[in-house]
Amino acid sequence: MDMGKPRVRASLSRVKEYQPGKSVEFVKKKYGLEKVVKLASNENLYGPSPKAVEAFKNFEDLHLYPPSQPEELIERISEYVGVEEKRIILAAGIDGILEATFDIFLEKGDTVSISPPTFPYYFTLATIHDAKIERLARNENFQIKPTKTNSKLTLICSPNNPTGNLERCEVVREIVREMAESDGVVFIDEAYVEFASQSLLDFADYENVIIARTFSKAFGLANLRIGYAIVPEWLRKEYLKVISPFPLSTPAIKAAIAALDDIEYMRSTVERIKKDRERIFRILSNLGVKVFPSEANFLFMRTKPDFCEELMKRGVIVRDCLAFEGCKEGDVRVSIGREEDNDFFLEKAIELIG
Ligand code: PMP
Repeated sequence: MDMGKPRVRASLSRVKEYQPGKSVEFVKKKYGLEKVVKLASNENLYGPSPKAVEAFKNFEDLHLYPPSQPEELIERISEYVGVEEKRIILAAGIDGILEATFDIFLEKGDTVSISPPTFPYYFTLATIHDAKIERLARNENFQIKPTKTNSKLTLICSPNNPTGNLERCEVVREIVREMAESDGVVFIDEAYVEFASQSLLDFADYENVIIARTFSKAFGLANLRIGYAIVPEWLRKEYLKVISPFPLSTPAIKAAIAALDDIEYMRSTVERIKKDRERIFRILSNLGVKVFPSEANFLFMRTKPDFCEELMKRGVIVRDCLAFEGCKEGDVRVSIGREEDNDFFLEKAIELIG
C-alpha cells in the first residue's frame, strides 16, 4: 500500500470518470479546421433570453452568500409548472437533485432499477452508493417494457437520453403503483420536457414520485447549473437536509427568474429546434439512415462505426454513444442546434452517407 494515501471508498474502483466530449478548440487544432460546430451536449445553441444574460451580469455583491432556497425563484417555478411552492426544491442542476435523491434513499445493497440505454450518471451514482443495479428492458422503440419491480429506486427518463422517446403513461403508472407497495421511489427525469408533446407531471400526485427538471436545456442556462424537482410535501424537508447549503449563486437565481419572465423567448427557440428536428429526421430518413423519432432536442441514429470520427474530421462534433450501456458501435446522438449549425451538420453528414 502507498504510504500517506488514504484508501478511498471501495465502490470507486468500479466507477469510470466522466468523459466530456471533445471541445471545439481541440477539434479545430487536431484537424486544422476553421469552422467546427459542436452538437454533442444537448445545449440550446440559441442561448438564453437576453434578459437572463442581463440579469446575470447585473449582480455585483459577489462577496455575499446567496439565499439557500430562494423564495422568489421557487414562486416563479411554482407558477410555471402549476405546483405548490411547498413541493419545489432547487439544486445545482438535475445532477444535484439526483445526488440528493440517492443520499436520501439509498442504503448499501439496495437495488436501483435503470433502463439502458439512458443517462449514464444514473449508473455512476448507483455504483458509488454500492447499489445493486436491476436493468429494465426496452422494446424496439426504446420504451420501457411493462415490468415487475420492487427495487428501492427506479429511474425513468422521459424523453429518454440518448434515444429521444417518451415513456408510456400506463407502463409508468404500473411501476409507480408497484413501487408504492414495496416502499420504493420513482424518479422521473424530465430534463427535455419542453421539447416534448407530453409530460409525466400528473404522476407528481403520488407520494413516491419525484419529477426533476432543469434550466440547462430549453432555457439555455446549462452553465449556471439550475435544476429543480417537484416532490411530495413530506419529502421536501428530507431534501433540505441533504442538498448543499447554497446550491445556486445569485446571478444564476436572477437569470432563472428573468428567463421565466421572458418565457416567450424560450418557447420560440424550442419551436425552431423542434421544426429543425423534424426537418433533419425527414432528410436523413429519406437518405436511408436509421434515425429514430425524437421528443427532445436531439436525434438518435444507427450509423456506420466510423461516422463520428469522419464527421469530426469535417468539423462537426456529435456524441458517439458507444460509451452508453446498451448502445453499440455506430450509435450516434446529434443535438439540434441553430438552423445554420444544423445545415452544416446535414451538409457534412450527407457527404459521408453519399
Ligand atoms: N438528466 C438528463 C437526462 C440529462 O441528459 C442531463 C444533461 N445531460 C441531466 C439530467 C443533467 O442536467 P443538469 O444540467 O440540470 O444537471
